[in-house]
Amino acid sequence: MEAIGNTPIVQLQRLFRGHDVVAKLEFMNPGGSIKDRMVRYMLRHRPDGVEHVVESSSGNTGASLAMAAAVHGLRCDVTLPDRTSVEKIKRIEAYGAEVHMCVADVPEAHERSYYSMAERIAAEHGAFQLDQYRSELNRQAHYTDTAPEMWFQLDGRIDYFVCGVGSGGTISGIGRYLKDRDPRITVIGIEPLHSAYREAVTGQKEDGDYGTVIEGVGKRKPSGAFDASVVDDVIQVQDELALQYCKRLAREEGILAGGSSGCVTAGIAQLLPKLSGRVVTIFPDSGVNYLSKYF
Ligand code: PMP
Repeated sequence: MEAIGNTPIVQLQRLFRGHDVVAKLEFMNPGGSIKDRMVRYMLRHRPDGVEHVVESSSGNTGASLAMAAAVHGLRCDVTLPDRTSVEKIKRIEAYGAEVHMCVADVPEAHERSYYSMAERIAAEHGAFQLDQYRSELNRQAHYTDTAPEMWFQLDGRIDYFVCGVGSGGTISGIGRYLKDRDPRITVIGIEPLHSAYREAVTGQKEDGDYGTVIEGVGKRKPSGAFDASVVDDVIQVQDELALQYCKRLAREEGILAGGSSGCVTAGIAQLLPKLSGRVVTIFPDSGVNYLSKYF
């Protein structure tokens, strides 16, 4: 668990020549993603006597939790939407956790959603649910851990923080920290088309059906972990463009990152002509998670 964090920051030298765009490589955490930090923080704050943990996840929280459960000797159940990549499912199972496949395209309250399934397991088995979509601890983990680490690595030289939004914990925690240190920093969220966060921040509603193949980012309804007051704008990116940038990151930068990293990179490409100064972003997970799905 102590090996979590201290991830490197690298410059995207070829995709954005002549600009200053840097990415923090969170896939270098031992559980494979940025979610290691949130899980570690939430488990440090767990009630006494917990022996069984459960969480609904797009896969990465599940892998981090399964890893941590192995370390702490806890029983672990993970509920996943049926669009989750095979690599993520196998990774969670490899740590000895039990996976429950649920339906992605139903509302949260539907009995077959991965949200209600996790609640049911928590209620029926007395398991402790992390509840990343509602818990304050999600954004606090990034405020106290990810953000100060990034700030010191960059000596506070940050003009824009551009970040993918799933539960919203990363952008809200890091965004709040950066604005507390320097209110001039602009915070911009990136999400798939017709996801809910753009409307939550700008009030602009666009018609169209939500549905994405990019795992980890986008929501039908804003999650309770999202703090719209620290986000200045949200840009939406088409799936095809996100996947195109995912492949370009691998082939042109040598960075094998996941679909949400491609999504945020495509968003930066769109924004860059209007920005001046250093752009900082996060690459939450690795392309290894999606070798058979996107690559
Ligand atoms: N990218 C990936 C691959 C993820 O798994 C997640 C977490 N759902 C995110 C981005 C978004 O992070 P957050 O939940 O903190 O908004």
